[in-house]
Amino acid sequence: MARYTEAVCRLCRREGAKLYLKGDKCYSDKCAFTRRGYAPGQHGQGRKKVSEYGLQLREKQKARRIYGILEGQFHSYFEKADRMKGITGENLLVMLERRLDNVVYRLGMAESRTQARQLVRHGHFTVNGRRVNIPSYLVKADEVIQIRETSKESPLLKQVIENLGAKTVPAWLELSVNDTTGKVLRYPTREEIDIPVQEHLIVELYSR
Ligand code: SF4
Repeated sequence: MARYTEAVCRLCRREGAKLYLKGDKCYSDKCAFTRRGYAPGQHGQGRKKVSEYGLQLREKQKARRIYGILEGQFHSYFEKADRMKGITGENLLVMLERRLDNVVYRLGMAESRTQARQLVRHGHFTVNGRRVNIPSYLVKADEVIQIRETSKESPLLKQVIENLGAKTVPAWLELSVNDTTGKVLRYPTREEIDIPVQEHLIVELYSR
């Protein structure tokens, strides 16, 4: 699958917000956005008047980059969200939160969504006892995500398991540190999704 391979810190600087794409580094003073909180490139520090379209586009790009999704897939999430009952923008964010790679990240079983995606792809997790290696798999209420027994010996996951006790998970998920499982209690509400995105601008963009 195609994916973004440039320096990811440029994305935070472009969007004017910390997108937390690099795990621990994002919380340290090595964060590129903390050190240079302006857009990259020769004209990054210039003042620009942004059109309504520009604002909508940036908001969509920001959401896409936070979850690490390419345009085509993001647009198909929007179309599904639009067909669902309720508020389209909220439906969209809830669907993005339900992605297995995001849930693994939210459970503290990976340092970043990028790492979570890689771990899922390598088949390190089960959902309700069955191995799932599709990062875009949408979890459902009552499903249980677990680190596979055979994967617990990998140095990376050993480290993850050691640190699990210190993790706080959102209220819609439940983490059981002892048996390295996470349960989806329900879907998140908008208030529980802590991403800096104004989803109504994304809806306006796609409704043009
Ligand atoms: Fe963004 Fe993290 Fe890089 Fe900071 S360290 S610019 S938050 S990806």
